[in-house]
Amino acid sequence: MKSINPYTGETLKLYNPHSELQINEAITRAHDTYLEWRKTPFSEKSSLMNKAADILESKKDHYAKLISLEMGKMMKEAVAEIEKCAWVCRYYAEKAEGFLADTPLELPDDKKAKLKYNPLGVILAVMPWNFPFWQVFRFAAPNLMAGNTGLLKHASNVPQCALAIEEIFQEAGFPEGCFQSLLISSDKVKSILHHPHVKAATLTGSEKAGEIIASQAGEVLKKTVLELGGSDPFIVLADADVEKAAKTAAKARMINFGQSCIAAKRFIVHGDIYDSFVEIFKKEIENLKQGDQFDEEADFCCMARPDLAAELYEQVNKSIEMGAKVILDGGRPEEGSAIFSPYIISEITPEMPAYSEEMFGPVATIFKVSSEEEAIKIANDSPYGLGSSLWTSDMDKADTLAAQIESGAVFVNGLVASSPYLPFGGIKRSGYGRELAELGIKEFVNIKTVTFA
Ligand code: NAP
Repeated sequence: MKSINPYTGETLKLYNPHSELQINEAITRAHDTYLEWRKTPFSEKSSLMNKAADILESKKDHYAKLISLEMGKMMKEAVAEIEKCAWVCRYYAEKAEGFLADTPLELPDDKKAKLKYNPLGVILAVMPWNFPFWQVFRFAAPNLMAGNTGLLKHASNVPQCALAIEEIFQEAGFPEGCFQSLLISSDKVKSILHHPHVKAATLTGSEKAGEIIASQAGEVLKKTVLELGGSDPFIVLADADVEKAAKTAAKARMINFGQSCIAAKRFIVHGDIYDSFVEIFKKEIENLKQGDQFDEEADFCCMARPDLAAELYEQVNKSIEMGAKVILDGGRPEEGSAIFSPYIISEITPEMPAYSEEMFGPVATIFKVSSEEEAIKIANDSPYGLGSSLWTSDMDKADTLAAQIESGAVFVNGLVASSPYLPFGGIKRSGYGRELAELGIKEFVNIKTVTFA
């Protein structure tokens, strides 16, 4: 397993994948630890989770550097990612006990009943490289607080991040086996999922991986949560603050160099303000500077792997060959290079890849519409349904239209962003289930009805 700097192509470290024996030992350890961990009081779990947050904060530059080196994120964005991980640890350290407190139930007679929220056991997390710490911590913090134990199969290109996360939980004092990282290829996932000690799985990744993991889990009737791709619409109505919308749109598209499931990808703009929107949006993106991960003057670095840059170029180039209009031309990436320059294209028609596929990088597609109805129709004409952004100065209208948008979230006059406080997840081919907030911690618990006669 290789850790490679995508900007330079330099191999940073090589790892031997874990053997079958090591995988089985890890599952047994996770299960044995769970049997004790599930009885651990919230006060003790909270104190360990706060310790994990302390470690993240005190060594944030060290962890951020690992992220930057392995997947090309700008160092300043990587530092923010580590800070967010500490935030989610502290959030669940404080709130888990209240979220999982018994809920009394009302019965028609004077009998008593309540709901209890008991842990399930070992949970497998299959995670992507794009936010290599955040995606893992938003799984680990609620699940460890709920009394589950975690096994991580991280993306193959971020092994240093995977091992560093395991070390953080160990250093914080969590019992051995509470959280373990397995350095394995994706073909090992099925046997882990089918192991009787593994009770459920969560995947954040592509639709393809979602289909495979959901069907493998289905064979043994195990629950899954799937956080998959997105092609979020960013709808700008005629009465919106165009300048603010266009500037935010550029940020929303370029976040993590476009490699975010909730990065805005389709800009659906009313004809009355289309020209000014495009002018400001284009200028904002053109003004961004490329450099290496540690260049403080730069705004973006490169994509996470050369094959991802080549794949994205294929999608955009095919769309252009089919008639898409180029507003900003990023050129062709060099063969074998992860360096990519942003594109803006318009006049997108349904048969083009840019219409219905997820463009997982800095490529923006712009649609001109003549009514709110047409805007919503295009927004919903996508296989995905993760986030969405709606720009208007009329809050009543926003409230009405928000109900019509097929997505797991609508951010009115703002950029879609995840927060420990907000449930996060999608519909359609963006997956199912929710992470974060109270709903997130309740995905992997046994919601048990207890009655007292
Ligand atoms: P990916 O190729 O699906 O990989 C994600 C994880 O799944 C990796 O650990 C990968 O392992 C594993 N995997 C892939 N195929 C598998 C299989 N057949 N069986 C078991 N595991 C398998 O996705 P990615 O390219 O890393 O990430 C980008 C995708 O994730 C985008 O579609 C993005 O929108 C989505 N995403 C969604 C969210 C959300 O919250 N909804 C958040 C972030 C990203 P290997 O690395 O070893 O292949």
